[in-house]
Parts: sequence; structure tokens; C-alpha cells
Amino acid sequence: MQQDTPNTATTTVGIFSVPHERMQTHTSSAFVVSCIDPRFADAIWEFMKKQHPYHFDAPVNTPGGAKALAEDTVKRQEIYNDLTVAIALHSVEYLYVFVHSQCGGYNIPDRSQEQQQQIADLYQVRNSIKTHPQDQVRNLTVRAFIADGHDDSIQQTNASKTRQWDNILIKQVY
Ligand SMILES: [Zn+2]
Repeated sequence: MQQDTPNTATTTVGIFSVPHERMQTHTSSAFVVSCIDPRFADAIWEFMKKQHPYHFDAPVNTPGGAKALAEDTVKRQEIYNDLTVAIALHSVEYLYVFVHSQCGGYNIPDRSQEQQQQIADLYQVRNSIKTHPQDQVRNLTVRAFIADGHDDSIQQTNASKTRQWDNILIKQVY
């Protein structure tokens, strides 16, 4: 099979503005772990922008979000490796971990059972961080949240099929 010859020419197809000050350093306040679910990506991004404007790492997205840090798996080790790099290169001080309602990574149909498991996992994440062998990981401030898009109390009471927007609540666990 014939291989493409690398072509060094590029075409600019978009231009985006960021504050000049932001571009002068790659320090960052926060490392973020959340699910790949596209329904929650914007809400979590907007929330992070309010918490640390222009000062948080692009999220590590993995199915289940914080679930990946609650279990002793290869994936957790990979995220820890990334986190260690972020601490060294960006000087991050906070770890933000998210789970969300009706997550395919959990696959627990009952919402209250799902939430119970998620909260248990979020506490497991903190235990794991606080007992980590590396000082700089142990010293992180961990903040844990549930992005809840299925809290009936805040959806429109007259739930019609024509409604255009749903609400996602960011609920802090600790
Ligand atoms: Zn998910």
C-alpha cells in the first residue's frame, strides 16, 4: 500500500481568542476528571469556567468519570500519571471529580441506587488521594460533584415534548 507523503502546508480554518496573559504561562489551578457523556460536557465546562476562569486543565474524560479513580485499575494509574504531570508542569492545586445522572459507565437504572454508588465512589476517590504515596498528590484539595440532569424538582412542571432546554444541577458532595 502506498503511503501518504507528509505535506507540511496547513490551512487555518478557525481563529479563537484567549487572554494574552493566559498564553504567557501554562500554570493551572485545577485538574478535572469527568465522563465522556456529551449531555453533561458543556455544563461541567461552564461550571469550571466559573470556578477557575482560564485556569483549569482540559478535562480528562473517561466513561463513568470519577468512577475510574475509585477503582484500582490500569485506567486509574494512567490518570494518576497524567495528574502527576499536571502537578509538575502546571502546578495544579485542586482535583475536581465529577459523576453524572443516568451514566452509562455505571449502568444502574434506579437513580437513587446509582447516586448511592456514585457518592460511595467519590469518597473512595478522596481516600485514595489522601493515602497516595506521593506528597504532591496527597496535598491536592479534592472537590467532588454530581452533575444531575434528572432532578425532577427543577425541570419544568408542565413537561411537554416541545420544551427546548433541560436543567443540569451541579451538586457538591464535598
Ligand atoms: Zn457517563
